[in-house]
Amino acid sequence: MTPRSALRAGPLALVLALAGAVLASACSSGPAADPRPLTRPAEDAKPAAGGGPAAAPARALARTAEHQRRVHARRLAAARVWGLAAAPLLPPAPPRTKPALATEPGFETDGGGPGLPPVITRVPTDDRVIFLTIDDGHRKDPELLRMLRELDVPVSAFLTDDAARDDYAYFRALRDLGTTVSNHTLHHPDLRELPYAAQREEICGQQRVLRREMGAAPRIFRPPYGNYNGDTLRAAKDCGIDLVPLWQQEAFPGRWTYSRADTAFHPGDIVLTHFEGPSEFGGTMADVVRTVLRKANDEGFAVARLEDYV
Ligand SMILES: [Zn+2]
Repeated sequence: MTPRSALRAGPLALVLALAGAVLASACSSGPAADPRPLTRPAEDAKPAAGGGPAAAPARALARTAEHQRRVHARRLAAARVWGLAAAPLLPPAPPRTKPALATEPGFETDGGGPGLPPVITRVPTDDRVIFLTIDDGHRKDPELLRMLRELDVPVSAFLTDDAARDDYAYFRALRDLGTTVSNHTLHHPDLRELPYAAQREEICGQQRVLRREMGAAPRIFRPPYGNYNGDTLRAAKDCGIDLVPLWQQEAFPGRWTYSRADTAFHPGDIVLTHFEGPSEFGGTMADVVRTVLRKANDEGFAVARLEDYV
């Protein structure tokens, strides 16, 4: 029953339909979802006082409330283990239709043109979501895998072969958490300094590596340093790429750099960080994810999965 049809069926039905919608949303989020029933089957449950036609809906409502209470308690407990005062906000259901993407003003390039992958720094959406992307692949920190699994936070990875090559198994484990692994070249050059053929090899070469190591070639590519030209976009397209996401903010352990004067998150912002550690950026991957989640919670944003929107 949809909320609209429930309106016609009466106020109690509306409450149940809305509760069901909330439940479906809460249950769609990874480890919080549990295929086992959290309460006893309805036939075992104690009848509502007085029985009558309202008893079964009342029991269903009670089960919904109990389920939500348990899901929330689990998420809060996990958040506290990871040093957060509150559970990360849950993203809304992914959009049924992905937003149309076009290169953002100021990101056009000479020699670019129609049909080339768009260059974006945020996703056009009104949802209060941001996207966390992690680049290169030098550090393979097992604590990051545990944290993302326990908090059910989606990320996207952009791997350079030079950095990731000594342990692609780590990134397969990350992929198995639902992370999409995308292309960040073979050797992390400044692509603008290379002719077309060399750019194409950097991108297509990493497509081949990721197909071999991950089982599928990506459709998303991020140029190192965010540097690109028309040849980059043509090469990316020739290698099967259809999107070039850059970023709005860069997160470090306990600090940020921003690409615009307004430092607040905006809906659809893409956040960058790197697979690094204390010797590279003064903290752990858990520290940087905490930094992102605290700002997101403070500003009323959820971390959503980039590939659900693009
Ligand atoms: Zn990079």
